[in-house]
Amino acid sequence: MSNHLFDLVRTNLPADPIAKTFIETGDGTRLSYAHLLARSGAYAAALGTLGVRPGDRVAVQAEKSAEFVFLYLGAVRAGAVFLPLNTAYTATEVDYFLSDAEPALFVCDPAKAEALEPVARGAGTATIRTLGADGLGSMAEAADAADPVFADVARGPDDLAAILYTSGTTGRSKGAMLSHDNLASNALTLREAWRFTGEDVLIHALPVFHTHGLFVAINVVLATGGTMLFLGKFDPKQVLALMPRATAMMGVPTFYTRLLREPGLNPEIAGGIRLFVSGSAPLLAETHRDWQARTGHAILERYGMTETNMNTSNPYAGARVAGTVGPALPGVAVRVVDPETGAVLEPEAVGMIEVKGPNVFKGYWRMPEKTAAEFKADGFFITGDLGKIDGDGYVHIVGRGKDLIITGGYNVYPKEVENEIDALPGVIESAVIGLVHPDFGEGVTAIVVARPDAAPEAEMLRILEARLARYKCPKRVVFVEELPRNAMGKVQKNVLRDLHAGLYRA
Ligand code: AMP
Repeated sequence: MSNHLFDLVRTNLPADPIAKTFIETGDGTRLSYAHLLARSGAYAAALGTLGVRPGDRVAVQAEKSAEFVFLYLGAVRAGAVFLPLNTAYTATEVDYFLSDAEPALFVCDPAKAEALEPVARGAGTATIRTLGADGLGSMAEAADAADPVFADVARGPDDLAAILYTSGTTGRSKGAMLSHDNLASNALTLREAWRFTGEDVLIHALPVFHTHGLFVAINVVLATGGTMLFLGKFDPKQVLALMPRATAMMGVPTFYTRLLREPGLNPEIAGGIRLFVSGSAPLLAETHRDWQARTGHAILERYGMTETNMNTSNPYAGARVAGTVGPALPGVAVRVVDPETGAVLEPEAVGMIEVKGPNVFKGYWRMPEKTAAEFKADGFFITGDLGKIDGDGYVHIVGRGKDLIITGGYNVYPKEVENEIDALPGVIESAVIGLVHPDFGEGVTAIVVARPDAAPEAEMLRILEARLARYKCPKRVVFVEELPRNAMGKVQKNVLRDLHAGLYRA
């Protein structure tokens, strides 16, 4: 039987699945491709025993482990829809997701089972099993008791493989429905674009409830029969120690900034690596430059989102331009349009980024109106990201549409102001936000992390006035110890807006 996504694994199995390592965990345990086949088969069979039918959702809020990966693959093979949940979600949030998705099974951490059981029951999920960071729990036991030889449930390209809820910084979190082909086609595109082969050894220190760690990283490795060094969390010292044994790493920008603080980072330790990838949040041009200076490697930055998988990537061969996310990937159409008129804009003009391709999701779970509102009649998806395409076809992201500041009737793109601030001596990083202002509607406000040698507020404002049009200049600079970030390293501007909401109120 053909199972579109799992066929990607089958057709790319290494020549010797018993000898070849798929996952090596942080403690040195090696799990082969033969183990992957058997263990995912056992999970698929166990899901059937627990009453999961093809098309049913399997919600999982569990810590990262190799067993988590086999459960994901088991769900795919059973024809179920895998639904990972951020481990930081509280019981109230879990309640929302379970009520919305109505999974046939909920798998959670053993330590949370007592608290979450009544929540799941209240939300209508009858069956609950557990899986811990150590790979143990009643879900793993169900797999132990199941037959590892499993005939994959037939699934076509358009059948759903997963639902990933968007982080939802505004309004309700939405379930992005991803088909077998959304995931399989993107894995193949990235395999080619980034030249992954079975020889690759990928450092995997990302969380697995998010598209980056779950799909980009794992599916690309599966599409080559390569190996992952699979770490429970990102620890810069551990990553550095493993670097000489790896050929590639995928990370969020904070991985790179934190590794740069390690004195041991040098060209020798990174000598065996052929590719460093960054995504999920903007990589500062400064980090790109510092990384190149310290290791000799140009980080390859790419752009994607939960709903679309990966859309653009800097080239493997060719210029990896700091501060850009590169041209559209093969098979993906990217355009920039005027948000008001919808007219496609000329190169260099800033507008709304829209994308179309086999990577783009099937819509939001049980939200047909929301889905309809975010797709154009010609099939393009409105990303919500503002950006431009330069003369060389490289995409530049200037921020989320909702982060656009409108001050005295003028549009201000935070990124432009942040770039100027970040270039000032002593500034580590900045986030520019709009806050309610009695005269201007919104006042441009700079939240800045700086060393003691940075200029004080008044002087910083004076310097910026010489570099930016007056309306773009911050009205105030607020110094903070650090910027609030989510698990993927994204600066949470909504949190900053709430924290500083009263700044211009009398
Ligand atoms: P998520 O759905 O959590 O993966 O978030 C997707 C969003 O992250 C995108 O819509 C962008 O706003 C942002 N993003 C992802 N990659 C990049 C990047 N390389 N540079 C800037 N923003 C990015």
